[in-house]
Amino acid sequence: MTGSVVLVATPIGNLGDISERCLEALRTADVLAAEDTRRTRALLSHFGIPASGRLTAMHAHNEAAVAARLVEKVADGAQVVYVTDAGMPGISDPGARLVSAAIDAGLDIEVVPGPNAALAALVQSGLPTDRFAFEGFVPRKGRDRADRLGAIAEEPRTVVIYEAPHRVGALVQDLAELLGAQRRIAIARELTKVHEEVWRGSLGEAVEHLAEREPRGEYVLVVEGAVSEEPGEDDVRAAVSVALARGASGRDAADEVARTLGVPRNLAYRIATELRDSR
Ligand code: SAM
Repeated sequence: MTGSVVLVATPIGNLGDISERCLEALRTADVLAAEDTRRTRALLSHFGIPASGRLTAMHAHNEAAVAARLVEKVADGAQVVYVTDAGMPGISDPGARLVSAAIDAGLDIEVVPGPNAALAALVQSGLPTDRFAFEGFVPRKGRDRADRLGAIAEEPRTVVIYEAPHRVGALVQDLAELLGAQRRIAIARELTKVHEEVWRGSLGEAVEHLAEREPRGEYVLVVEGAVSEEPGEDDVRAAVSVALARGASGRDAADEVARTLGVPRNLAYRIATELRDSR
């Protein structure tokens, strides 16, 4: 009989966010693999769950080797639970290698979903949630950082970024320079905790906001996507109206605007006809 790998989300601050399924998984696991065994021991102790020699460490520096060992235990029938310090394993946290090792071995993987800072910040940001891009931590320096920030500047979807408190000011400054001071941003801090705060404004205002206080706690940045530069109906209307005022016929105005703005001719012609008829 084989067991399974169970990825279990834990609270990102407020312990009230623990779920019944999370507690059950922690109670019944044969092996409790944790990013930081001390933190997980504290979580277990808070909920009165004995560690009973089940804890083992799996973090970014030993994930490949430990994952291989854990997969062997699952193949022997063990229920192996993996938790990180906070939130969903595998999201800017270890866990992905354990999943791929389990898939390669043909084993079952379960997930106990729960708190996640990116999604909590996104839904509180007030920015569009229908499409979004998760960027995790942006590289700290050099070409990698420049390339990533360049891609973020062009990204049309809402972008969610994690950052450490001592680097958040520099990141917002870089974003303001590359994306423009007008682009909107929400800065979510200490989500689900006593000092939870979500600040909303433009990138230009955000630079000043962060310069006025020492960043403390955990941060998620949610940045508005790049606004499409495709000309809209208002742009077509303005260009057609200029051409008509110059004395062009409706047809000529439509031809000219369709060519210069790269919009469909029938759209330009419809607007030219509306404008001419309303004179
Ligand atoms: N796996 C976690 C998750 O599901 O959200 C993320 C782990 S990542 C190593 C830690 C980063 O997540 C922090 O630097 C911060 O950007 C963000 N984060 C975690 N908890 C947070 C909180 N309570 N408030 C704001 N951001 C948080």
